[in-house]
Amino acid sequence: MNPAQRQKIKERPPEKPGSPDPKEMFRQYCKKEAMRYTPERGLIIDEIYRRDGHFDVDGLFSRIRNRHPKIRLAKCSIYRSLPHFIKAGLLRESLTREGVVCYEHTLGHEHHDHMRCIGCGKIIEFYEPDIDVVRQRFCKESKFKMVQHTHVIEGYCSQCQ
Ligand SMILES: [Zn+2]
Ligand SMILES: [Zn+2]
Repeated sequence: MNPAQRQKIKERPPEKPGSPDPKEMFRQYCKKEAMRYTPERGLIIDEIYRRDGHFDVDGLFSRIRNRHPKIRLAKCSIYRSLPHFIKAGLLRESLTREGVVCYEHTLGHEHHDHMRCIGCGKIIEFYEPDIDVVRQRFCKESKFKMVQHTHVIEGYCSQCQ
């Protein structure tokens, strides 16, 4: 990578100020899909939006269980909810860590791609507008409606090489 390219890579994309309320967005999605909005799903959304970063279903499940020990939430309801959250634009699959799919929330967090170090597991987020342009062009040319994308570069970080 030459120095000019390196400069363009931002470690973390800028946060979008004033992004819409995720639960409100999901309520609207439910209305559109003629689905019932359940408080349980609201709770899962709350936990997803409580912090930034990449998480898997097991991690999310234990976070919710620790925070709400009295609420009986089955892990399969998380699994069932995630595709809806993705379709509603609240969540996306971001990368796979040791074969486990990780997710991250989308609102207020500009979309980006990932580099994952095989050595230490470090994840570097980057955003390169040119990649976006190419991706959108490919979709347009193939008449493909993109819902989400996962783009992960795997290799070794500067410390692990
Ligand atoms: Zn590393
Ligand atoms: Zn990310």
